[in-house]
Amino acid sequence: MKPSVSHENSQSLNVVHKKENITVRQIPARQRIRKALVLLVFLSFPVTMNYLSPYVIIDGAMNGIVNGSLVMFVLMFISSLALGRAWCGWVCPGAAMADMAEPINNRLVNGRKMDWIKWLIWLPWISLIVWLAIRSGGYQRVDFFHLTNSGVSMDSPEKFLIYYIVIALFVGLAMIFGRRAGCHTICWMAPFMILGRWVRNRFGWPSLRLVADASACTDCNLCNKNCPMSLDVSTMVQTEKMEDAECILCGNCVDGCAKKAIRYSFSAGK
Ligand code: SF4
Ligand code: SF4
Repeated sequence: MKPSVSHENSQSLNVVHKKENITVRQIPARQRIRKALVLLVFLSFPVTMNYLSPYVIIDGAMNGIVNGSLVMFVLMFISSLALGRAWCGWVCPGAAMADMAEPINNRLVNGRKMDWIKWLIWLPWISLIVWLAIRSGGYQRVDFFHLTNSGVSMDSPEKFLIYYIVIALFVGLAMIFGRRAGCHTICWMAPFMILGRWVRNRFGWPSLRLVADASACTDCNLCNKNCPMSLDVSTMVQTEKMEDAECILCGNCVDGCAKKAIRYSFSAGK
């Protein structure tokens, strides 16, 4: 017979819960905003896919058209002069795809062994674009919505296939290799911002960056555990060298450190 739960029983359950002192840790407000933004841009991906496409820019170069993806990649480079790779941490749809795999495989990746792969893809790709643009006689007109109908990227059944291939790549790599493996290896957008950061650092311009206070750090390693890019953040903090080409300024380490040893700063770097 099914046991009935009396009022008395439910009261005692409450007591047990109190005795167990269950505490549910809320995600810091800034990280909730960041996650909501990343989710929103992912939901917008059926509309925006063409403007981030590695193919649409090639088609534009072949036909001498400045299109949405060329404009977006240039904007990413320009934004990185002031905001580093904040795009990757805060508004990249690929980030949401990679984060979807987090409950399945949250393993840290050895980025140092993987990071070069994206350059192997990016350099021939960008060379091809330059060559095609020169061969077509240069850019002659601007059409931001090139290869889209009424501005929406997913305007035909074939586009769904492309959409799912992109998702499968980012989610699949993260599922197989661990945290944001796609950002380390296949992302064609990251190099624009890595180059922008490099230019910024050469000129020493003030920009968004992380600043550490080594004296506050207790070496608990929580920041290493929280870093979606698998960086050795605690070592960066202890040496007070927070510059890393793979840091996406997501702020997980900032918001997760109980000792407040890391903070955002808009300043010139060392
Ligand atoms: S979480 Fe804070 S205290 Fe812990 S290792 Fe990182 S910087 Fe140091
Ligand atoms: S170092 Fe901090 S801000 Fe940079 S990617 Fe890692 S957790 Fe994000």
